[in-house]
Amino acid sequence: RIMRSFAWSGSPARIVFGAGTLAQVPEELARLGSTRPLLLASDRWADCGVPAAARFGGATMHTPVEVTEQALAVFREHGADSIVAIGGGSTTGLSKALAAHTAAPQIVVPTTYAGSEVTPVLGETRDGVKTTRRLPEVLPGTVVYDVELTRSLPVATTVTSAVNALAHAIEALYSPQASPMTDAMALHVIGTIPRALRDLSTVDSRAELLEAAWLAGNCLASVSTGRHHKLCHELGGRYRLPHSETHTVLLPHSLAAHGSTDTVARAMGVTDAPGALYDLISELGGPTSLRELGMPEPQDEFLHRAWRGQRPG
Ligand code: NAD
Repeated sequence: RIMRSFAWSGSPARIVFGAGTLAQVPEELARLGSTRPLLLASDRWADCGVPAAARFGGATMHTPVEVTEQALAVFREHGADSIVAIGGGSTTGLSKALAAHTAAPQIVVPTTYAGSEVTPVLGETRDGVKTTRRLPEVLPGTVVYDVELTRSLPVATTVTSAVNALAHAIEALYSPQASPMTDAMALHVIGTIPRALRDLSTVDSRAELLEAAWLAGNCLASVSTGRHHKLCHELGGRYRLPHSETHTVLLPHSLAAHGSTDTVARAMGVTDAPGALYDLISELGGPTSLRELGMPEPQDEFLHRAWRGQRPG
């Protein structure tokens, strides 16, 4: 292989991984010297045992600034001194947005495979327009992965969220900023997720998915956004399509649009990576068309251009 040059910055976050690790959040708060955390969590996690000054359960997808304002008011009203966020990428996004305003330390407990907890990427929506920024200061300082919390994730969300993680890894593999570190993480993710998705019955396969999600998030953190993520972002923003579902529909097509996909195929243990990925998604009942996500037929030149070349051969 041809020698390449690269730069690498490792994330300084503290990662705690295991089953039942939610119980360690009070210890982690003590490490931070926090006594009044604001808990960001939906009703599902309301009785999580985290001693919080207040709870805000209103996180929604794509981090609308109005929701951040509401959470910020609760944070200030209760004199909170840190943030504990339990939930998927939407809750993590709100935590990061709050951190951007308050500089409060964050403990994020992810319950999906979005990977946002280990990226400095902050996506926000104002007046229906989503913008994305990279802000090192919003990177959560502590991430507590508790595999037990992911066991309630419905199969449909498990599939789309895991494919979202796979997209981070595949994009890192093809990125101009790829390095031996991102390659190693990406290949692990690509080798693990399709296999683990076929057997969700054990805590071990859930643990494999969650570990892969962590590494995939690190992949996303380490490279700039590529064509697949940009396309998902454009379509998701313009047509309000759900995030991980959009990734799931487009990933086999984005992959097929790459010249050679041999590396991905080898990591997956198949010969035709885009075809195998498409088959896996449809066998697991995942979405395979944008129409089923509520997108109308492409109506403008931008979409025609974006769409051409994205269909598998
Ligand atoms: P989400 O957080 O909206 O969760 C999806 C659904 O699953 C919600 O209804 C949620 O309540 C439910 N859920 C979550 N965990 C559950 C569990 N364990 N059991 C049962 N139900 C559960 O979706 P997501 O795909 O995790 O996150 C999407 C958001 O994250 C988008 O806004 C996206 O832009 C953002 N994101 C950001 C980054 C980044 O680096 N900044 C990376 C990936 C995703």
